[in-house]
Amino acid sequence: MAPSLPVNALTILTQIIQSAARASSLESQINLIVDQISEQLAVDVCSLYRRLDDDSLSLVATHGLSRSIPVVIPPGSGLVGKVMLGQHTINISEPSQHPDYFYVAHSHEEEFHSFCGVPLIYRGVVNGVLVVQSRRPDCLCSEQEALLSTLAVHLAHLMISLASGPLRTRNENIFHSGIRGAQGLALGRAIVQLHPNLAKVQRLQSESSVRELEGWHHMKQAAIEEMCRERVIVLKEMGDGPASVLDAYQMMLQDPLFEQLIEAEIKAGFQLPWALKKAVESISEQFRVMEDPYLRARAEDIEHLGDKLYQIWKGDGEQSLPESEGPLILVGDRISVSVIAKLATRDLVGIVCFEGAALSHIAVFANALGIPAVMGVEGLSVSNGDPLIVDGTRGEVICAPSQVMQNEYRRMIRERELLDVRLQQDIHLPAETLDHQRVTLMANSGLQADVEPGLRFGAEGVGLYRTEVPFMLSESLPSEQEQESIYQNVLRQYRGKPVYLRSLDIGSDKSLPYLPGIHEDNPALGLRGIRYSLDNISLLTTQVKAALKAAGDSDQLHLLFPMIGSTEQLDESIALVKSTFEELTVQGFALRYPKIGMMVEVPSCISLLPFWRSKLDFISVGSNDLSQYLLAIDRNNPLVSKWFDPLHPAVLFELKRIVDFAKAEDLPVSLCGEMASDPVAVIFLLALGFRQLSMSAAKIPLIKSLIRHIDLGDLVQLLTEALRLDTAASIRHLGEQFIASLDMPCKELLAEIKRP
Ligand code: PEP
Ligand code: MG
Repeated sequence: MAPSLPVNALTILTQIIQSAARASSLESQINLIVDQISEQLAVDVCSLYRRLDDDSLSLVATHGLSRSIPVVIPPGSGLVGKVMLGQHTINISEPSQHPDYFYVAHSHEEEFHSFCGVPLIYRGVVNGVLVVQSRRPDCLCSEQEALLSTLAVHLAHLMISLASGPLRTRNENIFHSGIRGAQGLALGRAIVQLHPNLAKVQRLQSESSVRELEGWHHMKQAAIEEMCRERVIVLKEMGDGPASVLDAYQMMLQDPLFEQLIEAEIKAGFQLPWALKKAVESISEQFRVMEDPYLRARAEDIEHLGDKLYQIWKGDGEQSLPESEGPLILVGDRISVSVIAKLATRDLVGIVCFEGAALSHIAVFANALGIPAVMGVEGLSVSNGDPLIVDGTRGEVICAPSQVMQNEYRRMIRERELLDVRLQQDIHLPAETLDHQRVTLMANSGLQADVEPGLRFGAEGVGLYRTEVPFMLSESLPSEQEQESIYQNVLRQYRGKPVYLRSLDIGSDKSLPYLPGIHEDNPALGLRGIRYSLDNISLLTTQVKAALKAAGDSDQLHLLFPMIGSTEQLDESIALVKSTFEELTVQGFALRYPKIGMMVEVPSCISLLPFWRSKLDFISVGSNDLSQYLLAIDRNNPLVSKWFDPLHPAVLFELKRIVDFAKAEDLPVSLCGEMASDPVAVIFLLALGFRQLSMSAAKIPLIKSLIRHIDLGDLVQLLTEALRLDTAASIRHLGEQFIASLDMPCKELLAEIKRP
C-alpha cells in the first residue's frame, strides 16, 4: 500500500466529507465515500458493512468487491465480525492466513493481500465496520489508519440514518427511533403536515426597501389576525395552557428586538424572507445554547413563528387537513398548536414530530392531552393515510406495520386502556403503603400547561414550581405585578395546598435572552441559581415581593432557594426575605411569613446542614443536580448519559446521609428530581425514609399505585442489600426484581417507565 499520504490527512478528510455532502441521497453519499477512500488511500477495495439486528453484517457499499449477490457475514464470523465484536481495528497483511478469515463466495477476496477493518462506533455501540483491502501485502501506515478511524466516526453517524432509511432490507415494520415525548401506544392513519422551510431561504437583494418594509407590516398584521383566530379554537379545545403558547408567539412577534433585526436586514438591501430568516436564527441561537432543557426547547417557538410568517408571506395560509376516517396520527416537521387543537375534535391518537425534544411544547401538550408522542424522528417517509404505530413509551415509530404487528399493538392498546381506567379509579385514594405509611405526592410545574394536569392527577400540592420558566416565556423581565399574577394563578388553583416556589435558577448559559450574556468556561459550575440571584439582588427582591404578595396571608407559600452551597448564601437569602417581608408589612400588606427552605443539590451543602438546622423549615433534594455534581456527569450531555444513573451507590449514600439527618432533626424533607418518578428509584427512596415526592403530573397515578402495593417492612432488607452493592446497575437490578415480585395490577406500566 502507499506508505504515506500525498497531502495531509485533514485535507483528505475534508475533501471526502465535502464531496459526500453534495450527494443527493444517503446511498449515493455512502457510495461516494467508499470510492473516495479507496482513491485517496490508493487501496483496491473499500467496503462498508452495517450491523443488522441479529449481529450479522450486511455489505451496504463497496468499491472493488463484486456485488453480484447480497453479502451478509454471519454473526461473529471472519475478520470483519472480529472487528465488530472486539471493537478495535485489525490491520494485517495476508488476511487469508489469519485463523478468523472468512471467505465470502464469489467476492474474489482471495486477490487481496492486506486487510484493515475499523469499527464504526456510535454512542458506545458498534453499528458497522469499514474495511479497506489491497493487492499489495503492506499494512496501512499509522497516518492512514488514523484517517480511516476518523472517517469511521463520521460513517457511524451516517449509519444511524441508513438503519432507518430506504436501504433497510424489509419493506414492512420499519422502525424509526426518536425521543420519548409522551408515553403510551397508538395505532392510526398518518395525517402529514409539512411547512415551507424558512431555513432554506436564499440571500436575495430587494428592489425596494420601502416595499419590503410594507410587506413586513402586512405580514405581521396578517399573522396577528390569524393567531387570534387560532387562539379561539385552541382555547375552546385545549384550555388556557396551550392557548398561552399563542400569546407567547404574539409577544415574540411584537418584540422590539425581533422587529429591529428584521428592519436592519431589509434596510441593508435584502428581501423580507431573508430578513425574517436572519432574525429568527439570531434569536433561536440564543435559546439553543442554553443549558436548561426547558429554555433550550424554546428555540423551537421562535422557529415555529418564523415558519408561520413565511407561510403567510408565500400566501399558503394554514394548510387544510385531509379528510380521514378513524384514529389519526399527526406527522410533521413543526406541528402547530392550532393543528393539534383542530384534530383534538377528531380522533387524534398520536403525534410524530421530525423535530423537537422531550421538553418541546408539542410534547408538553401531548402529555396534557394524554396521547403518545415521539419527537425528533429522522428519515421517516410517510404519506397521508398510511398506517402508523406510535410507541411513545419506547420513543419509536413503526411505518408500514404488518397485519400481525397491527393486531399485536391493538391488543396492547386495549390492555393499556383497561389499566388506565383502573389507575384513574385510585386517583382520590391516599398514597399509603400496605402498612399504612402515608406518602405525599406533589407535582412539578413551571408551564401553565402543567398546572391543571397536576390537580387532575391528584397532586397534593406543587412540590417544585420552576419560576425561571415563566421568565423565559416573557419578552423581557416580568414586572413585579406580572410575577405576582403568575404566582397567584398557581396558588389559587392549588388553594389550601402547599406550593414550593423556587427562586430563579438561571445564570451563565442558562441566561435569559433579554439579559446581557456572560461567557464562562464552565457554566454548570459558574454563576447559576442563587449565585446569580445574589449577584443581581434587585431581581431576587422583586421576585420575593411578588411571591409574598401573591400568597397574602395564606399558609401555602414555601420559598425554595436553588444551588445553595455556603452559609453566606443561605444567610443572605433569608435576610432578604425577612427585610422584604418587614417592608411590605409596614406598607400595610396582610402577609403570612413563608416557610423557608433550600434545594439540596450542591454536594457541599450536605455537610453544612447541621449548622443550618435552625434556619430552615424544610429541604428539598434536587436529585438531578445532586447526581450531576456528585458523579461529575453533565445531566444534559447524551454522550455521557449512559453513566448517569442516580441509583449510583455514591448518590444513595448521600441521600441516606440527608434523610437520616432530616429525621433526627425533625426537618421536613422532600425530593423533586426525576428520581421521584422512576419506579425503581422510588422503592429505594421510600426505603431510605423519604415520605414526600414531587414529579411530573402524569406520573403521579402510577407512582401512587406502586406505593399502595408496598409494605415498608419488606424494604428494610432490600435497602441493606442495596447499600452493599457497588454499581448502579446491580442496585437497579435488585429494585427491578423487587417490583417484579409485587402483586399489583399495573406492573407492566411500571416496567415500561425506564429511568430518564
Ligand atoms: C434537580 O436538580 O433535581 C431539580 C429538581 O432542579 P432542576 O431540574 O430544575 O435543576
Ligand atoms: Mg437543580
